[in-house]
Amino acid sequence: MVTKTMKYEIKYDKDLYNLLRDIQYVIYRLKNKATSMAWDWQQFSFGYNDRFGKYPKEKDVLGKTLSPDIYNLIKDEFGDFISSATVDVAIQEAVKKFKKDAPLINRGEVSVANYKRDGSFPIRKLQIRNLTKLNAKTYTAKFSLLSNEGKNQRGLKSGQIDVILRTGNGANVILDRILDEKYKMCDSKITKIKNKFYLLLTYQFESQKVLLDENKVMGIDVGVNVPATLAVSHDKYYRQFVGDGKEIRDFENQVLVRKKRIQQSRKWAGEGSVGHGIKTRTKALEKVSGKIANFKQTKNHNWSKFIIDEAVKMGCGTIQLEDLTGISEDNTFLKTWTFYQLKQYITYKAEQVGIKVVEIDPSYTSARCNKCGHIHNKSNKDKWRPNQETFHCQKCSHKANADVNAARNIAMKDIEQIIKDQLEAQKKSNQHALKYIVE
Ligand SMILES: [Zn+2]
Repeated sequence: MVTKTMKYEIKYDKDLYNLLRDIQYVIYRLKNKATSMAWDWQQFSFGYNDRFGKYPKEKDVLGKTLSPDIYNLIKDEFGDFISSATVDVAIQEAVKKFKKDAPLINRGEVSVANYKRDGSFPIRKLQIRNLTKLNAKTYTAKFSLLSNEGKNQRGLKSGQIDVILRTGNGANVILDRILDEKYKMCDSKITKIKNKFYLLLTYQFESQKVLLDENKVMGIDVGVNVPATLAVSHDKYYRQFVGDGKEIRDFENQVLVRKKRIQQSRKWAGEGSVGHGIKTRTKALEKVSGKIANFKQTKNHNWSKFIIDEAVKMGCGTIQLEDLTGISEDNTFLKTWTFYQLKQYITYKAEQVGIKVVEIDPSYTSARCNKCGHIHNKSNKDKWRPNQETFHCQKCSHKANADVNAARNIAMKDIEQIIKDQLEAQKKSNQHALKYIVE
């Protein structure tokens, strides 16, 4: 089971917010009171131990454990209008926290917890009812926040309060899954951040056991048009294009233009007029560099996440990608600019889910026909690579997207050995052909 928490804004409504503020205030006082009563009990226990040589059992002395005892003593003083579920859990939390901290408190290492007025308060899962979807960003629910007494005090027909929950992208999926009973709602909290109240919804779901097979390989080709192209060894129809090369080139151009402009204005300032101006421009340049780094990082984070999710989905226990150390081609911009960090991110995330990462020699991965295995050489590249997007085999006429063809080669187990054998075979047959011509 995986347990997580998601935040949902509770839409403002004057009466509702007043009520939430009232509950928040009472729970804050109640938690502090419960903590001091837990402290009292501890002092009593020490005294008892001094006198009788043993610590008292809560049940023997109180007739029950400490939390319900405190609940009985203070529920009327504090939370008479609040649902007993909220009061009960708040006291339990305070007592539990005190007991956890007690050894440290007694050694003087931490002080007794002091709850803040703007803290959160508990809402149990049973207090959240009738969750309903209005639209992708709006849900309604009824919160049972009041006791019978509280309901009467406030002249309400029901202790269940209508609330509207607002969600952002992604957060709505969790509520949908709760509605579909794929996820389970758990005891949660309500909290205030700045001037808004939020439901901090805790939910649980079964973690999916994915079987990763080391022999199922994902191949990743890094390219100019498409930053990363994915293929897998066990499904020839599978392909994914990750990211958009144009977006990166556009961004790069923008950045270069801006850099140039700043540098030119720097020249203008001349060497004589030092000071303030140069500082400003240096700062501007740093800002541009920071922007590049951010952009790159965000992209690489998103891409690597997507790639690992895909690999897991396809059951790939191995990821193969090109070892591009020392490569020098025209398209180095993309390769150096994104690839090293992307590779780092992929490797890191792959390790976390138990996927092995293998680097392979990139020398012939683009030149090999994935259909017949023939490896082309540079001399007639204009034929087998008529343009950036296309691979056209000169041996079997197979035509394919060049990135997909490369990715499919990279996705082959033992591809380095396969290429070596193929080159050997082609060399032999060439020699044979040559001999034949000579004779
Ligand atoms: Zn071919």
